Amino acid sequence: MTTFPDLKTVIITGATSPRGIGRATADLLASSGWNVGIIDLDEAECKNLANELSSRYGIQAYGAAADVADEVMVRAAIDQVENNLPQIVALANIAGVSSAVGYLELTSQEWHRVLNVNLHGVHYVTHRVVETMVRHGVGRIVSISSVSAQRGGGTYSKTPYSVAKAGLIGLTRSLARELGPHNITVNAIAPGPIDTDIMGGTLSEERKAELVEDLVVTRLGTTADIASAIRFLLAEDAGYISGQTLNVDGGLYMH
Ligand code: NAD
Repeated sequence: MTTFPDLKTVIITGATSPRGIGRATADLLASSGWNVGIIDLDEAECKNLANELSSRYGIQAYGAAADVADEVMVRAAIDQVENNLPQIVALANIAGVSSAVGYLELTSQEWHRVLNVNLHGVHYVTHRVVETMVRHGVGRIVSISSVSAQRGGGTYSKTPYSVAKAGLIGLTRSLARELGPHNITVNAIAPGPIDTDIMGGTLSEERKAELVEDLVVTRLGTTADIASAIRFLLAEDAGYISGQTLNVDGGLYMH
């Protein structure tokens, strides 16, 4: 079985949000010796984060802007990362948008906006990155789903979000099966409520208390909780785990 090369790169989408899961993951993986390719919407923010990571952790980093819902942009951005960094070994699909619109008020435009970013976007990025992984005969992929996929919402975002995040679980299982012979593992993480800005801005103390009510671990999740699970699944020694959805949700969903 092919092992990891000495110099390895992880591509992280959705990494520039200052209080987000992607940013915490970029810091943790860079501090663990990964070289990091950043994909997010704003070119300057991608470049700034790459500079910050390389000067803070002494690794190589490169940022390239893309809307993950735009396949042409995605391919161009990943080409750039590939041309500027060591071998792409891992991918963390973290970019995503929330959607608090109820089904009865839902427009077709909102449905497509959410599906385009949260499901099609993950497919576009993964499809391009997998070309490289197959060529090298090794890869690790993790996509951020949500407990909302398993519980039918119930956190902040509603139906199109749950549909997209449930789609990621199917994508994960199917790709795990197809890509296993290429030494590529594919997994999903289903976070519970994590204290970031995605739920319409910083959460009030009252809202945090409500979100914690159903949990076994009686606190809101942190970006560090998710980042450490991502690091675990992307590691070389996690090679016998594939097709799984790991709930990092304080025990909200037990299955
Ligand atoms: P966030 O809003 O802080 O970060 C999202 C990031 O994705 C941002 O950097 C944003 O610029 C980027 N992004 C959005 N649309 C994009 C696009 N079209 N192309 C490229 N980049 C795009 O949110 P977060 O809470 O850190 O969420 C990260 C992921 O975790 C999302 O997929 C989200 O659905 C998922 N998630 C979050 C929670 C939670 O409670 N925070 C729970 C379950 C799942």
